[in-house]
Amino acid sequence: MNKLHKHILFLIFIVIITLMMLLSIKNVVALTSDPLIYLDAGHGGFDGGATSLDQRIIEKDITLKCCLYLKAYLEKTGFKVKLTREKDMALAKSKKDDIHKRVNLINKANCLLYISIHANAYPSSTIKGSQTFYHGSKETNALLASKIMNYLRVIDPKNERLPKEISGKYLLDNTNKTGCLVELGFLTNAIDLALLSNDDTLTRMALMIYLGILDYLEEINYETTMY
Ligand SMILES: [Zn+2]
Repeated sequence: MNKLHKHILFLIFIVIITLMMLLSIKNVVALTSDPLIYLDAGHGGFDGGATSLDQRIIEKDITLKCCLYLKAYLEKTGFKVKLTREKDMALAKSKKDDIHKRVNLINKANCLLYISIHANAYPSSTIKGSQTFYHGSKETNALLASKIMNYLRVIDPKNERLPKEISGKYLLDNTNKTGCLVELGFLTNAIDLALLSNDDTLTRMALMIYLGILDYLEEINYETTMY
């Protein structure tokens, strides 16, 4: 199978999956008053986050782009979307205040769920792969993280990482809504870096997160739980 055929097959697969999920939740968005999803682009402003080995690719730029792509997918389907930041900025002068503000925004919003997007770095450049993280306080956190992980694996079927329960992350520990954190990959790994620094493949990763969200909403019978 040549590259073009693979690409076409992939697109057909995505269209079928999207249609199937939209058909099952098509009434959801119209019926509910505030189908809001909060997206948190990790870092920003003075806080760049992780960087590629040559320091040229910075986590804060990747996370924002990914959130904006994901926002576009969600809005096309009728969801409302808010971002903790919409440009390269921090929410406060210190990292501590910044993360507190992000938690407050999410906790005050009447949102269905939130997704916090990050990218990783590691001393060994062989370490690679996207992964989702969640707080164990809610079953829905684990479900959401698992659904998104399933779709991220479509990008890299060899990625054996599993959704991981963690504690000690201020945002995950202190948000009162269902949500999870997505680490898109390692900026210190050449393969991941190529995926994340290319707009087409980053858009595809956003699409996978979007499909994971739809799959999650379908599984929790979103239309009935809102009443
Ligand atoms: Zn980060």
